Amino acid sequence: MMGPSHALSGAAVWLSGSLALDYFADYEQSPLALAVGTAVCAGGALFPDLDLSGKVTRNRGGATVARTFGVVSLFAAEVIEKVSLGVYYATKLSKDPRRNNGHRTLTHTIPFTVLVGWGTTWLCATYGKWAVIGILFFMIGLALRGLFDKWAERAGWVIVTLVSAGAAWFTYANLPGDRGYPLIGLAVGVGCFVHILGDLITRAGVPILWPIPIKRRMWMPIRLPSKIALRTGSKTEVVVLRSIMTAVAVLSAVGLVAPSVLERFPTDL
Ligand SMILES: [Zn+2]
Repeated sequence: MMGPSHALSGAAVWLSGSLALDYFADYEQSPLALAVGTAVCAGGALFPDLDLSGKVTRNRGGATVARTFGVVSLFAAEVIEKVSLGVYYATKLSKDPRRNNGHRTLTHTIPFTVLVGWGTTWLCATYGKWAVIGILFFMIGLALRGLFDKWAERAGWVIVTLVSAGAAWFTYANLPGDRGYPLIGLAVGVGCFVHILGDLITRAGVPILWPIPIKRRMWMPIRLPSKIALRTGSKTEVVVLRSIMTAVAVLSAVGLVAPSVLERFPTDL
């Protein structure tokens, strides 16, 4: 699955999940909280692909997300890829093939998703607003890169970085005082999980069962049968899937925000 589809899937899942919570559990969120959660989940849905490293010294290659913050994120991707490869070799069993890069290994597993969600929650709880502003800056950058890929490509990483910093600062200034912000950790975790599901339906597959050994393999790639698996970049992905996800996101957003707007401007005078 390509970057924009991953980001869109994160946004759609967060908005429709929030709508379900509002409807079934009466859990209401302010428009700002909704926007923050959606951006963080969209960014989180790109995070696992930060394991695709490029050429840091030549500022080339890597996944689109790896170029969000220029060479800084390219370098981070390099580190994440090498650590993932290290974990692969440390835990591989006899039937797991040799590999020379760590893409689609550690960052595409459920323990990683849980760790990232928990780690984010811990950071927010321990460092309060300062952790929140850093995480928002990072996640909004990824989300911009994914959701508005053409614009981000044209604007370049400097503009993307500045816009993310501005958006993070605005949120910082408007979020209510120090509290846990558990929704941010949840949004990152959900985003990562949605990413794994997105890769699961493409032909490459992901080792989603790690660390459960299967047939002397720890890193068994799980994928759909090739007949129904989605081809990355195909019309089905770019046109059909993205239209459905956009519709889900927009309709959920309207369903969530419209009642409070109607309340503010009552029509039954
Ligand atoms: Zn991936």
